[in-house]
Amino acid sequence: MLPKFAYSRPMSVEETLAQLTNGSVIHAGGTDLLGCLADGVVTPEKMVSIQALNELRGVRVLNNGLRIGALTTLSEVAEHPLIRERYAALAQSAGAAASPQLRNQGTIGGNLCQRPRCWYFRGDFHCLRKMSPGKPC
Ligand SMILES: Cc1cc2nc3c(=O)[nH]c(=O)nc-3n(C[C@H](O)[C@H](O)[C@H](O)COP(=O)(O)OP(=O)(O)OC[C@H]3O[C@@H](n4cnc5c(N)ncnc54)[C@H](O)[C@@H]3O)c2cc1C
Repeated sequence: MLPKFAYSRPMSVEETLAQLTNGSVIHAGGTDLLGCLADGVVTPEKMVSIQALNELRGVRVLNNGLRIGALTTLSEVAEHPLIRERYAALAQSAGAAASPQLRNQGTIGGNLCQRPRCWYFRGDFHCLRKMSPGKPC
């Protein structure tokens, strides 16, 4: 069962930053977060969705490289022509993660910030990292 929490979906980055206080957690695609909630790995007071922040989506070409927005999905990264041409390892690893459904929903920001995929951390164990955030594994 999921714990109780408040939910908000701000429409701007400024509003989002103002809502991100202690005890809140960012919700992007939700593919990792919902599992963490169900497993009791996180117990937020508030979930702040960043799904409405369109400026965080997509890939932009800059003079010195690419800028990949945090809400760009793994599928978009895997299929982007320029990433495939210039950053083949990134395109290949994004395209090999999880399953097509998860890659269509999961974002690159969420992938980088996902909680440890460890049996002890996710499971019903007295894991130091889970019990005392910041402690070494
Ligand atoms: C069955 C399964 C198999 C998987 N296999 C693989 C695999 O083979 N390889 C692999 O690399 N990954 C794998 N994953 C992980 C998957 O890639 C992530 O679940 C996904 O990328 C997370 O993105 P999301 O947008 O859904 O994040 P969410 O679930 O919304 O968030 C994940 C975490 O990141 C935080 N977060 C999200 N966005 C931001 C942001 N912009 N700024 C700060 N914090 C943020 C959230 O608060 C949360 O703690 C797998 C997941 C599942 C469920």
